[in-house]
Amino acid sequence: MFKLPELPYGKTGLTPFLKEEQMSFHYEKHHKAYIDNLNKAIETDAQLKGKSLEAIVQSSSGGIFNNAAQAWNHTFYWLGMAPTGKGGAASAELAEAIKRDFGSIDELKAKFVDGGVKTFGSGWIWLCTDSAGKLTLVSTSNAAVPFTNNGPAPILVADVWEHAYYVDYRNARAKYLEEFWAHVNWGFVSENYASKKVRDLTKVMS
Ligand code: MN
Repeated sequence: MFKLPELPYGKTGLTPFLKEEQMSFHYEKHHKAYIDNLNKAIETDAQLKGKSLEAIVQSSSGGIFNNAAQAWNHTFYWLGMAPTGKGGAASAELAEAIKRDFGSIDELKAKFVDGGVKTFGSGWIWLCTDSAGKLTLVSTSNAAVPFTNNGPAPILVADVWEHAYYVDYRNARAKYLEEFWAHVNWGFVSENYASKKVRDLTKVMS
């Protein structure tokens, strides 16, 4: 059984970027529903019991995958954001890799926002690293994650489902992504980059 993780900044901590109504719907309705649905599936499937969330995401399909991946993706998304002015900076190692692979942090931001805008329909825009530290941007649809089938490890993600921004931004996905970038938790991203592995979120959701 998995639980809805605590938000490090509460439901009002990201205001004015994401206001309480937006956060309440997204966190307490959407994210919670994915976790509740996953827990219902686990109750009736002995093979899922005791598995880590990452293992379920990597080994399931259909409705179980959709709910498990959405449970994982949202926790990763929440942890990747910080209140205004509290996001810190990329580690020296990460800053160097960004310069090498994207030219500059501003070019990475432009490509991240563009990748999110161009993600058709519902999905996610991810910054990922391979095991050697090479950075890439990956756009996924619906619940899909980059790290199935030996894909790269995510270090940052933005939710581009309309439910993530429609209360505060209506259809202005680019504006939401610009503001998202100003609220990245660079400490979290740098930790993920240092590990080069898929983050263990099971421990914050157990
Ligand atoms: Mn969402």
